Amino acid sequence: MKLKYLGTAAAEGYPAMFCDCENCRRALKEKGKNIRSRSQAIVDNELLIDFPCDTYYHCMINDINLHDIHNCLITHVHRDHLYPVDFLYFKNGFSHPAPDYKLNLYGSIDVEKIISELPSEITKYLNFVKVNLFEPFKAGKYTVTPMKAYHGTENPYIYAISDGEKSILYAHDTDIFPEETWEYMKNNKMYFDLVSMDCTEGAYEELNYHGHMCLGRNVKCRDRMLEEKMIDEKTKLVLNHFSHNGIHSNYTDFVPLAADKGFEVAFDGMEIDV
Ligand SMILES: [Zn+2]
Ligand SMILES: [Zn+2]
Ligand SMILES: [Zn+2]
Repeated sequence: MKLKYLGTAAAEGYPAMFCDCENCRRALKEKGKNIRSRSQAIVDNELLIDFPCDTYYHCMINDINLHDIHNCLITHVHRDHLYPVDFLYFKNGFSHPAPDYKLNLYGSIDVEKIISELPSEITKYLNFVKVNLFEPFKAGKYTVTPMKAYHGTENPYIYAISDGEKSILYAHDTDIFPEETWEYMKNNKMYFDLVSMDCTEGAYEELNYHGHMCLGRNVKCRDRMLEEKMIDEKTKLVLNHFSHNGIHSNYTDFVPLAADKGFEVAFDGMEIDV
């Protein structure tokens, strides 16, 4: 399987709009991998994860025609992961989808609420599938398991994605996982070839805030996964979803700090093969 990161920033982007902080000023000046758009990823160029407002831009620069995509997992309803306004461009005249085109959108009841508010001329192209915690389902050729995230919406999910041979854990946005998730992974003997882990707050060791991770928490989470044999030394560990509020969080500053703890750092356009 191949995971491609289309966007790797938290909600406000990196650099953030309207921001005068040093991280943002330097990112804007240095550019390259320091520039991050809102969170989105795609598995094997066919299974989309999240639908932020930067989806349009991601499609253009990554040669993705959304009309060729039929499955999209939504992690949670923060606007950097679900931007329903762009679904309005399904409207006749704004686009010309094939009459039988459907985009299957998988998510929690929170997502259902938002999609159900869209007009029927839009929802005829969207097939919303409510998926439940700890109940594996099929999305195209993939078996996907929604698991509980520790984050600031009512029903946030992280997803385990398997093609039958390899498995990816896409863990955005979340703090160190809730106990129910640890228990489920352990009871089901889950093993991951790739873990993409939330690192919104950069190089901090600890935080007062709960709902995201920083490098210190990434290490704790990784160590527990190792202990529980959910990962091993062959597993690829990638940190993703960065905010300018973290310390040493510009790509160029953070790469050596993350490498020292055994992690790779995501950037827009990065591809990981497992
Ligand atoms: Zn986010
Ligand atoms: Zn800033
Ligand atoms: Zn969020």
